[in-house]
This record gives sequence, C-alpha cells and structure tokens, in this order.
Amino acid sequence: MSKVIKLKLTFLLFCMPFFANAQWVKHSFKVMGTLSQVEFWLDESTNVFDDPSNELDISHSKKAQRLIAAVEQEMFRIDRQMSPYKKQSELSLINREAANKAVIISAELFDLLKTAQHISAMSDGAFDITYASIGYQYNYREKTRPSQSSIIKALPAINYTAITLNKEQSTVHFTHQGIKIDLGGIAKGYAVKRCLSLLKNAGIKHALVSAGGDTGLLGDRHGRPWLVGIKHPRAEHKTAVNIPLENEAISTSGDYERYFIEDGIRYHHIINPKTGDSARKVVSVSVIGQDPTYVDALSTTVFVKGLVEGMALINKLPDFEAIIIDNQRRLHYSRGLQQ
Ligand code: ADP
Ligand code: MG
Repeated sequence: MSKVIKLKLTFLLFCMPFFANAQWVKHSFKVMGTLSQVEFWLDESTNVFDDPSNELDISHSKKAQRLIAAVEQEMFRIDRQMSPYKKQSELSLINREAANKAVIISAELFDLLKTAQHISAMSDGAFDITYASIGYQYNYREKTRPSQSSIIKALPAINYTAITLNKEQSTVHFTHQGIKIDLGGIAKGYAVKRCLSLLKNAGIKHALVSAGGDTGLLGDRHGRPWLVGIKHPRAEHKTAVNIPLENEAISTSGDYERYFIEDGIRYHHIINPKTGDSARKVVSVSVIGQDPTYVDALSTTVFVKGLVEGMALINKLPDFEAIIIDNQRRLHYSRGLQQ
C-alpha cells in the first residue's frame, strides 16, 4: 500500500469514534482522472473477506480500513490495466500491436471488449470504442482538435466491426490499420461494479460507490433511498435534479466535463463515431439500471444518439431508464420514470 493511501486511511480512522460498532464509513480519493467516493454501513455482521479467524478480534475501525483499501486497490488495478495514458497497460499494448497481429489478452479485458461490442451493435455504432482513432487527436486542456482533413483521413478507422475477438485464443486483432481503442465510456462503470461486488461479498448491505459520473448502489440508505444528484449542465455547483434510488446504478454523461469553446462551438469528450466531431444534440444524459457497466456505456450512447433516437432506444430496453437534458435545458424522462 502506498504511503499516501496509508496516511489517508489513518486520518479516516481518527475521524471515526472508536467505540461505535455500527456506522456509516465514507472515503473519497482520486483515480482515473476523476473523484471516486465510497460510502457504506458497517456493523458487526460484516465479515471482511470471509476470514472467520479474524472476525472476532478484528476491530471495527480495522474492518473499515481494510474495506476502503480494497476498494481503492481495485480501482487502481483497473486503471493500470485499462488506461490509455499508461504505456504498460494492457490497453496500450493492444493499441500498439493489434493492427499487426492477434494479441493475447486477459479474460477480464476480453469480456469487457465483448460487452463494448454488444453495446455498439445494439446502438448501431453510436457507442464505439474505436472512436479513439480520432478521439486521441483532441486535447481539451490544450484546446486543440484535429483538422477536418485529418478527421476525414482517420474516419474509416472508427469501426467497431474491425475489432476481431477470438474467445478460444483470448485474442484481439484489428483488421484495419490506424485503429485505436479507448474504454473511457465504459471502464468507470465496470470499476464501480467490481467494487460493489467486493463490498457485497464482505457482507455489506448498504453502499454507494462512485467514479466521476458513475454511481452504483447496494440496498438503500437505511430505511430511505439514496439521493443521487444529476449535475446542472451549465452551473458547476448546482444540481439539476435529485433522483431517489435503491439497489441500482446511475451514470451521467455531460458535455461540461471535458471541453473547450472555439468560435462559439463546444468541443467536448463525447464523440459521434459517424462524424469524428463532438456530439451536440443534447447536453446531459443519465441512464439508470441494474448493471453499472451497461449504464455507463448507455449514457454515452444515448448522448451520441440525442433525444429522439436515444430515448427510443431506452424505451425499447425494459431494464433501463433515462433522463435527458436537451439543448434548451428541458428535462425528458423515459417511459418507466413517467408513471
Ligand atoms: P465521463 O467519462 O465524463 O464519465 P462518459 O461516461 O460519457 O463520461 O464517457 C465519455 C468518455 O467515453 C470519453 O471521455 C471517451 O473516453 C469515451 N467516448 C467518447 N465518445 C465515445 C463513443 N462514441 N463511444 C464510446 N466511447 C466514447
Ligand atoms: Mg458513460
């Protein structure tokens, strides 16, 4: 464990009354270029990692410390594996080599690529991790973007069907040169999902785990629902609406997270795979459902599709609901939320 994590955990322990043996534990930390939060109800029934020998003598604060450390480590592990910015990541290896040969990858990354392919197919390519073939040419901090001619040149490399996955060999192969993939639209939801199941396996029944705009919930907040705020798209510290939720996940995609404005046009981090330009039909999309991975990818998907097509897609999927804020800042709810 890094010194920084240890220090932070020590601080957390001092914040907890040592005599309490049932309470909310909260912690936040930075990972994957965003803020992550974890909050859970810890009581005596919590059996940290099925370790019966520890159960009797392990102190309450130690349990909290171990669970938080486990959540942090899981998030950092996924970041190390899937970050496009880390040269050593499995994802970077794929981007370097998969256009030249089939690359053997972990079962975990293979499954996530498969899920991404599935969402691409069901969204008619609105969700497409090969968006990065052009996406990497945008730098929102430095306010730079690709010229129209470089977009036109690279556009054929945005094509999810050019990713060939072989389950038996556990390989990925690009059948087109110039393809790059990026999991920014799905990896945070996946990380939230992993951390929630880790807490669940330890016996936690009430928890919230978030990474940026992706939030997953276990149970309720002890007799009342969790309240998850959807950010106001144009006022940084305001909330547009609070949604009461239990045992579900919610993900928000907005055009205000990473962007710059040039000649009155907003260039932001959600890219329409058909044009290589930012998607501008709506300003915010939240998707609600059971599976944090799907919910994350679907919020990006619906953002690209816009109000009419995006809402039509969600209304066809019985397991998901959506809240869309359009360009006039009007709120729209999917059918299941209107009752
Ligand atoms: P955030 O990353 O702010 O939580 P999203 O969940 O909407 O927001 O994901 C946006 C990220 O998804 C972008 O930063 C980029 O990495 C990736 N992305 C952008 N456009 C697409 C697309 N059309 N298909 C798949 N992923 C995309
Ligand atoms: Mg998303």
